[in-house]
Amino acid sequence: MKSSLPPVLEVKNLTKHFPVKSGFLGRAAGRVHAVDGISFSIGESETLGLVGESGCGKSTAGKLILKLIPSTAGEIRLAGQRIDELSGESMRSCRRTMQVVFQDPYSSLNPRMRARDIVAEPMRNFEPLSDGEIDKRVGELFENVGLRRDQLGRFPHEFSGGQRQRLVIARALAVRPSLIVCDEPVSALDVSVQAQVINLLIDLQKEFGVSYLFIAHDLAVVEHISHRVAVMYLGRIVELADKESLFAGPQHPYTEALLSAVPVPDPTVKPNRIILQGDVPSPIRPPPGCHFHTRCPYAFERCKSERPAMREIKSGHFAACHLREGEPVEGV
Ligand code: SF4
Repeated sequence: MKSSLPPVLEVKNLTKHFPVKSGFLGRAAGRVHAVDGISFSIGESETLGLVGESGCGKSTAGKLILKLIPSTAGEIRLAGQRIDELSGESMRSCRRTMQVVFQDPYSSLNPRMRARDIVAEPMRNFEPLSDGEIDKRVGELFENVGLRRDQLGRFPHEFSGGQRQRLVIARALAVRPSLIVCDEPVSALDVSVQAQVINLLIDLQKEFGVSYLFIAHDLAVVEHISHRVAVMYLGRIVELADKESLFAGPQHPYTEALLSAVPVPDPTVKPNRIILQGDVPSPIRPPPGCHFHTRCPYAFERCKSERPAMREIKSGHFAACHLREGEPVEGV
C-alpha cells in the first residue's frame, strides 16, 4: 500500500550555478552549471543512489540539500516542509533531521575530542537530555555501529579508517535523523572494509528506519545498497529507476556505458565494454540540446539542439533520451 505521508526528501528543479570571475576587477565571465535542474524524491527507509563521473554535480547536489551552500533555484522539501527558504533558528531544527557522512572520516572528526564527546555533541546541541541519558545513548550507539564501549575514551587517531567511519555514522545517528546524506562514504576505505561499512549502513537502516541519499561513483557499491538509482551527467539526472530495472535494462546510452565498465566476477563472461569517446565537456559551456550528444554513440541531429524531456519508459523507470518513448514527467 502506498504511504499517504509526504516523502522524507523531495527536490524539484534544484539548480546551482557558480559564477566564474576573471580579470583584475573580477568581472563575471560565465557560470559553472554544477547542478542544472534536478528532481527526485526519497521515501521512508529508502536509499536512493546518486551516481555519475567525477565532476557531474552529485556532491554539489548533496551540499545543496544539506544547505551547506545556497541554491540558485529550485525547491527542497523535508517531510513536506520547504526548507530552501529557511534560515536561522527555523533551519536549525531541520538540521537535526538531516545528517551527513563524508568520504574522509578523519577530516570530519575533531582530533582533539574523545570518541564519546564526538557522538554526544549533536545530542547536547539538539536534545534536552541529562548527562546520564546521553552517556547511556552514546554507549548504545557504539554497540549499534560495531564499536566497543572500552573505546569510548579514545581519540580519532587511535581508531582504524573503518572504525573512524563507524564513529562518524554513530554521530550521524545520535539525534535520530530521518535522512543521512552519504557522500562517497566508503571510497577512502580498503576494499575489505568497504563491504563491512555498507552492510552496517543497511542493517542500521532496518533498525532506525532512516533514509539515505547515497552519493558514489562506484556502481557495484550503489547496486548493493540502493533501492533506486539516479544517474547524473553534467549537472542533470539522465535516468532514474528501481535498482533491478536500471541494472537489468538501462534506457539511457550514458547509463549503458557506465554499466558496461563494471567488472564482472565470472571469468567466462566476455566483457562488452562501451568506450565513450572524448572527455566530459566543461560545465562552464555545456553542449546545447542533450548534454551527452558530444560523446553519445547514437547521437543524431535533434540531440544537438533539443533538450530531451524526462519520460517514463516503463512503470517507475525514467530516462531523458530522444530515442525513448513515454509520457513526459516532471519532478520524478
Ligand atoms: Fe544520445 Fe541523443 Fe539520447 Fe542524448 S538524446 S542520449 S545524444 S541519443
